[in-house]
Amino acid sequence: MKFSPILDNRPANKPFIIAGPCSAETEEQVLETAHALAKQDIDLFRSGIWKPRTRPGSFEGIGKEGLKWLKRVKAETGLKVTTEVAKADHAYECLKQGIDVLWLGARTTVNPFSVQEIADAIDGADVPVLIKNPINPDLKLWIGAIERIYKAGITRIGVIHRGFSYHGDTKYRNVPRWQIAIELKRQFPDLTMICDNSHICGRRDTLASVAQKSMDLNYDGLMTEVHPRPDEAWSDAKQQITPVQFKGLVDGLVVRQTTTDDEDFVEHIDHLRHEIDELDNELLNMLARRMQIAEGIGQYKKRNNIAILQSTRWNEILKRATEQGTSKGLSEAFVSVILKAIHQESINHQSKIMNEKEEVKS
Ligand code: PEP
Ligand code: MN
Repeated sequence: MKFSPILDNRPANKPFIIAGPCSAETEEQVLETAHALAKQDIDLFRSGIWKPRTRPGSFEGIGKEGLKWLKRVKAETGLKVTTEVAKADHAYECLKQGIDVLWLGARTTVNPFSVQEIADAIDGADVPVLIKNPINPDLKLWIGAIERIYKAGITRIGVIHRGFSYHGDTKYRNVPRWQIAIELKRQFPDLTMICDNSHICGRRDTLASVAQKSMDLNYDGLMTEVHPRPDEAWSDAKQQITPVQFKGLVDGLVVRQTTTDDEDFVEHIDHLRHEIDELDNELLNMLARRMQIAEGIGQYKKRNNIAILQSTRWNEILKRATEQGTSKGLSEAFVSVILKAIHQESINHQSKIMNEKEEVKS
């Protein structure tokens, strides 16, 4: 797949900024927010008009009436506008009313039937589409949604990382699992990647640090929920911020460059990268050696009919490695993940040996 930029004629090296309320509530609220944001040089005005709510009975969006408000936003401020589409009907209405960019929500990406329904509805239309990650941490499902939209002839596709559902205690509303988005960008480097810090955080006090983290990871932009009176918002009140607070957040961002012409810097980084490559190489050689030894142990166990897994020995290894690793500044979680992966690979090698048929001598 080969993707094009979401919007033309944008300055390079400036984050792609999407801001606006979670939901369009009233015409006044939408216009008040849009006028305040228009002064801040944003790229796209967002507002949900069909809202996927967890339980029925809460505000489910104003519906297509809201599209007229977005048209007024365009006419009065010159801002381009985007809204969430979850059904074919939504997509038709948006195309009819000239909504500039569509986005697929997390609860849509998760369902291939819904994604296909929208892909069919916009087949051949010249409209950019932003695709949020599915609610569960499944990269293939995210890529599948991108492929379905792409097959409808759309190349102006971007993705929005809004975090993943997590059952348990966490400081996030949706845990970011950054490595999933990083892997997506590694596979498709020309895909515009936006961080939705609002739905990752679910609260105001961590919005800026998550936004900065996304800039440090070289994301292309940000989607943030902005409301003139956040506490009174009809949806997602806890995570929305005022236009003034939003300006503070954007002004405070340090945008990193991906390259530089500074020769000293390039030389120094080259040297460090070379060292990292050497270390990676050494690590792999050592791991291969470790597996050879494990296979040797496997042969020996087989001859003596001893089980592969020796829990006490494994517990000792884990305990010792955790102590050594943490004393060297590695986190306990990291040591545990690495050690478990190595152990599993050793077991696989030993199992292969144990289950190999003895050669029958003739
Ligand atoms: C939203 O952007 O308001 C929204 C409903 O987001 P998500 O699909 O990420 O839950
Ligand atoms: Mn929201």
